[in-house]
Formats: sequence, C-alpha cells, structure tokens
Amino acid sequence: MRGNLADDWPPLRTLTDLALRKWHVRLTCPQCGYVRVMSGAGLWYLFHRRHWRDDVASVCQRFHCPHCLLARRAKIRPLIEKTKDAPTGPKLEDPSDYEWKKLIARYRS
Ligand SMILES: [Zn+2]
Repeated sequence: MRGNLADDWPPLRTLTDLALRKWHVRLTCPQCGYVRVMSGAGLWYLFHRRHWRDDVASVCQRFHCPHCLLARRAKIRPLIEKTKDAPTGPKLEDPSDYEWKKLIARYRS
C-alpha cells in the first residue's frame, strides 16, 4: 500500500524532506488502524542525533504498533504519510535553532 508521500514533486523520500517542507508524520498501523502523529522536525532531530538513516523505508523499521505487539506479539510496521495534523502522544524534542538553521543551510546550497 502506498501512502501520500509521492503526491509531492519531487516525492518526499526522507524525514529531511518532510521536515524541510513542514510536514508532520502520520504513522498508521495497517493491522489495527492505530494512528500516531509525530512532529516532522522532532522526528528528523531524533534520527539526526542518533545517526539513523532517515529514508522512509528505514524509518518504518524503527517503529512498530504498540497495540499489535501487546495483543498478538506481532511487530507490525506502520505506514508513513505526511499530514498537517497536530502531533499526538509524547512530545518529541524540537531541534535547536542552531541545528535547524544548519539543516536549512545545507539544503539551500
Ligand atoms: Zn496495530
């Protein structure tokens, strides 16, 4: 199943793409429909600090549905989509101004 990341041109392929264009990230469990919205900038910063790959496929591998894990002991990977909805759940730390400006400067050149 495809999400809506390819609706944009060029398509959104990484958390960096999403964060730079001010999207939040909606993770949806394809099994039970559990949805969590995470701050795009916060998620980017989390992956940036941990030096994790931030392409969409790698991001999916970092998450699983907590309900399906409890109910079925199954690690279900979420679908990733862009959204303007407000983030839900525990708040992610936003990047500092310094980190954010560094990111923007890197992609403007
Ligand atoms: Zn689930």
